[in-house]
Amino acid sequence: MKIKTLFGEEEIQNRVAELAEEMNKFYNGREVYVIVVLKGAVVFAADLIRHFNMPVKTEFIRLSSYGANTASSGKVHAVDIALPDLNGKNVLIIEDIIDTGLTAKFLLDFIGCNFKTKSTKFCSFLDKKTARVNDIEPDYFCFEVDDKFVIGYGLDYNGNYRNLPYVGYIQNV
Ligand code: 5GP
Repeated sequence: MKIKTLFGEEEIQNRVAELAEEMNKFYNGREVYVIVVLKGAVVFAADLIRHFNMPVKTEFIRLSSYGANTASSGKVHAVDIALPDLNGKNVLIIEDIIDTGLTAKFLLDFIGCNFKTKSTKFCSFLDKKTARVNDIEPDYFCFEVDDKFVIGYGLDYNGNYRNLPYVGYIQNV
């Protein structure tokens, strides 16, 4: 399979550092509860939070909307969403990509219904704006992508390619 690179390793690392700097300014030393959406956001989150200069607590949750192929099922399932008490906390959700926006909406609604946070921000590594079915916009994102199925830097195709240090797409998919 031939993978066409969209964002190279150096470009990603530079952009992640730049975005983290923006967040460091916003949080200004205040503690943040980072919620990493498994599995896709792990690589991005690991790089991003290592640039943070505020106190950070890290939680992981697991949802699913994709089946074994490249099409969204259109339904979001909570697979594991055990979270600590987030009342009065600064919450930062970290996702790999916003596609239809259904996962982001599910999560934001879940946090909004269960906690009165001090702030809730949504950060996605990639933003596929043209695929959106709702009005969700990330507070932070690294890159915008076209409506293509992308892989690498945490994003998989049937469980593979998460380890690639760059982002690309499979040309024959
Ligand atoms: P949404 O609920 O916004 O449609 O989709 C969110 C989830 O679908 C993402 O967290 C990701 O796991 C998966 N997804 C959406 N687009 C892509 C893509 O282009 N590549 C990969 N590997 N996963 C995607």
